[in-house]
Amino acid sequence: QSKAGGRNMANWFEPGMAQRVAARAALEADMRHALNARQFELHYQPQCDLEGRMSGAEALLRWHHPRRGHVPPIEFVHLAEETGLIVPLGRWVLDSACRQLALWAADARTAGLRMAVNVSACQFLRPDFVDQVLAVLAETGAPARRLKLELTESLLLSDLDGTIGKMERLRQTGIGFALDDFGTGYSSLAYLHRLPLEQLKIDRSFIWDAQDARHGGAIVRTIAALGKALQMEVMAEGVETAQQRDFIAEVGCRSYQGYLYSRPLPPERLAEFVADGKIAFPMASLGPAT
Ligand code: C2E
Ligand code: MG
Ligand code: MG
Ligand code: MG
Repeated sequence: QSKAGGRNMANWFEPGMAQRVAARAALEADMRHALNARQFELHYQPQCDLEGRMSGAEALLRWHHPRRGHVPPIEFVHLAEETGLIVPLGRWVLDSACRQLALWAADARTAGLRMAVNVSACQFLRPDFVDQVLAVLAETGAPARRLKLELTESLLLSDLDGTIGKMERLRQTGIGFALDDFGTGYSSLAYLHRLPLEQLKIDRSFIWDAQDARHGGAIVRTIAALGKALQMEVMAEGVETAQQRDFIAEVGCRSYQGYLYSRPLPPERLAEFVADGKIAFPMASLGPAT
């Protein structure tokens, strides 16, 4: 027994594992420092309707590391969740995105645009999450009804009633909810209709599959039909080609984001995009102010 234990310990400390543990610790230490060092930035990916009119944007976190360069979210968001760092980081994201939203709201041409913000399950599950959001709205002056929080299915594994209660409280202020990466997680159709969701976002893996495999197409079609039946808007994620856009249009999905319309943009480029672009807000049809 003790010999077997010893062997397991030897396996645990094999070089590959030790290196991974050290790399993870280093990344964690860097991340703790990064928030104060202002190494994080938000980029914004425009979202649009089938006619290519911008309806809003999704805020996406970027980390500019002095030595590592640009670290993509897939490499640090999960670790931030595990270490709890996502809580202050998520608050920073919400604050920054709401500042941008308040700028839009102050200009009649952009006042109809909506801001989507990703919220981690562990962030949402904090007892003070609702108060945090309300405080950020009050501090930034961003209009609640233009804010959309993107939740993932993992949230729904734990305390469903508590989650619904929080969503309802936030919804009373005008905030909307989207279910992100829909179809990749553990959602059960049994409770989907209980959630006060306004939007389902089809994960981009299904959009990508839709073009060559019949199965991907069937999933996109099914999610679009489900959204319609539940009276939820369906947004396609990761639309890169005109064929993919035509396909989502054919199955009844009316909005999308993806490289076809725009990549995620830093704030300066976003301002240019908004100035050049057509905006889906009725006031935009009055023509740009000069
Ligand atoms: P997500 O919320 O599903 O965001 C969409 C991702 O798809 C983004 O990746 C975006 O850049 C990418 N994308 C959009 N259009 C296309 C396309 O046409 N082609 C391809 N190949 N990719 C496209 P990104 O920015 O790397 O973010 C990855 C994930 O990291 C996000 O997935 C989200 O789960 C997480 N994340 C990003 N920012 C935040 C944040 O502020 N808070 C939290 N909790 N998670 C975040
Ligand atoms: Mg998202
Ligand atoms: Mg998504
Ligand atoms: Mg996704």
